Amino acid sequence: MDKNIITVTTPLLPDLDEYYQMLREIWDRKWVTNNGEFHQRFEAALCEYLKVPYISLFTNGTLPLITALQALNISGEVITTPYSFVATTHSLWWNGIKPVFVDIDPATGGIDPERIESAITPKTTAIMPVHVYGKPCRTREIQDIADKYGLKVIYDAAHAFGIEVDGKSILNEGDMSTLSFHGTKVFGTTEGGALVMHDEKMKQRIDYLKNFGFAGETEVVAPGINGKMDELRAAIGLLNLRQVDAAIEARHQVAIRYREALRPVEGIDFWDDMPGVRHNYGYFPIFVDAEKFGMTRDELFNKLREQGILARRYFYPLISDFSTYRGLPSATRENLPNATRLADSVICLPIHHELTDADQQCILNVILKK
Ligand SMILES: *Cc1c(COP(=O)(O)O)cnc(C)c1O
Repeated sequence: MDKNIITVTTPLLPDLDEYYQMLREIWDRKWVTNNGEFHQRFEAALCEYLKVPYISLFTNGTLPLITALQALNISGEVITTPYSFVATTHSLWWNGIKPVFVDIDPATGGIDPERIESAITPKTTAIMPVHVYGKPCRTREIQDIADKYGLKVIYDAAHAFGIEVDGKSILNEGDMSTLSFHGTKVFGTTEGGALVMHDEKMKQRIDYLKNFGFAGETEVVAPGINGKMDELRAAIGLLNLRQVDAAIEARHQVAIRYREALRPVEGIDFWDDMPGVRHNYGYFPIFVDAEKFGMTRDELFNKLREQGILARRYFYPLISDFSTYRGLPSATRENLPNATRLADSVICLPIHHELTDADQQCILNVILKK
């Protein structure tokens, strides 16, 4: 890659020699997928690292969303956030479910619990919030509403790898949580993902569903799909687990330097760490107030591009603004003022475990107009 290009992130990759040793083992065993040894070890290691009771690995982070909805028999309407990656809403569509967009809380970027109740109809069966940028949603309020109306809660926790609140994993909230191990995420296996659940019975059901519904050689218990993670990726996952803490700490240092440099800048807003939360620093979103900053978001975005800095406008446009979903009654900008404001002002600055001080200074110089 061109040396002067600064990407928004870079994949976490294991030492190639160590990976090669594991590939050797796979070649020797000639067991490449279907709950192989590395798959089993990776699931166990993840449960321990993430402090969750049960986990089921997948080949990406979208299939766990689709499969969770299947496993919980979700139908009708589901309340969700427009401020996310499209896969959140797509998973509903693939299950024939109507998405109902609710505005976000500007303090967290997550769905605003105070706006959920008025969006509930007799057809509502679940809530699908997103811990966007790994910032915990207001989970207790969401659960209270779910309990009051008998709704399921499925968290899209694609950004929330390793996030803890008061020492407890955020992934234990709701009925199930999904993870993505895509190369752009804090923890990756090139492509990959997982579903976190509370009990063994559900784990069994999910394991059937991700393997065509097979519950034995000749028995199919449900119309399942193929979502299985293979041994090559499970091996990457096992190796990456050893270095993810160091990667998160390196990202933390980048975040500290951004905050220090940007705090005095008029018209640039960002979030600080939340008290009691272990963050993973997967993203560093800034919000541009064009009037105060003297430049629009897109002007700053293009200026960064000119310098080879590939910042990203996550999450612009809103999911509700894509042509597929624009016609939905809940997709209007009037219904989603906070999400619209964030989407129109956000830039995610480059942050990753290999970002150098010099590269970070280049990024800051553009924003500081040096
Ligand atoms: C990345 C992501 C997904 C999908 O994950 P894939 O592994 O790319 O399928 C889902 N939701 C959110 C919020 C994401 O950022």
